[in-house]
Amino acid sequence: MEIFQTVEAFKDYTKAMKAAGKTIALVPTMGALHAGHIALMEAARKAADVVIASVFVNPTQFGPNEDYEAYPRAFSEDCEKLKQVPVDAVFHPEPAALYPEGYATYVAVEGDITNKLCGAQRPGHFRGVATVVTKLLHLARADKAFFGQKDAQQLIIIKKMTRDLNFDIEIIGCPIVREKDGLAMSSRNAYLNPEERKAATCLSKSIALGESIIKKGLPARELKDRMEKIIKGEPLAKMDYLEIVDLNTLQPVECINDSVLVAMAVHFGKTRLIDNFICEI
Ligand code: AMP
Repeated sequence: MEIFQTVEAFKDYTKAMKAAGKTIALVPTMGALHAGHIALMEAARKAADVVIASVFVNPTQFGPNEDYEAYPRAFSEDCEKLKQVPVDAVFHPEPAALYPEGYATYVAVEGDITNKLCGAQRPGHFRGVATVVTKLLHLARADKAFFGQKDAQQLIIIKKMTRDLNFDIEIIGCPIVREKDGLAMSSRNAYLNPEERKAATCLSKSIALGESIIKKGLPARELKDRMEKIIKGEPLAKMDYLEIVDLNTLQPVECINDSVLVAMAVHFGKTRLIDNFICEI
């Protein structure tokens, strides 16, 4: 497995792969890899000749009071996991390699798909995501890129961005991988103390209830109330949002009549966790 830290070496590698007629799949990550990330690598492995993982904690997607410094970093362990897949190459740049002195160009997807849900709580977050993903897709010369449904809004935004900018790339979403007790895997789960970790299962319990009762014609208010009751019943959980929105526009719906995204963000102490499910009608 080849590891690239500079933009130049990485570009030379992807150029050579394209010249050799290979198809390239990219899996962008921020590292501290878990089974959710590895499932994306495995899906990519089946879909392309060359699989590239990027491991980069992207400073531009963190707000000033967010956890950029504290975000878990475990590059040697990550490489061991990536070798097992196996992945062909890892791009692991320093922040200054992607954002050198004087860097000034950003990609912003506009409108409610970036302003609602996590975008409302984390101003500038999706601008940072769209910018780094654009750079990574471009440098990797990727034919396909794999993202988790766990970050549902991110996936919707990246699909929109690549369509709007006419990128010649296929964006593939993969299902949420969960711990045995239902908690969606996340690098941020490592922040939880044992009590918070236990309490955090209220997200997946609420999701499971939602999945079991959702049906065409159900008033969104009823679904929201029943799902929220589970979160509110957990004293350590502080609700950020729970919203039922149209899958394409992310506008709130009154009634389940079209495909919807049911998404939530909940704080446990300093840790903010997200979870969601999609109901396609
Ligand atoms: P991150 O390292 O958190 O930026 O995530 C990198 C990619 O892995 C994103 O596309 C995430 O949506 C995806 N991902 C993170 N957690 C999971 C999970 N539990 N199941 C599936 N995909 C995930």
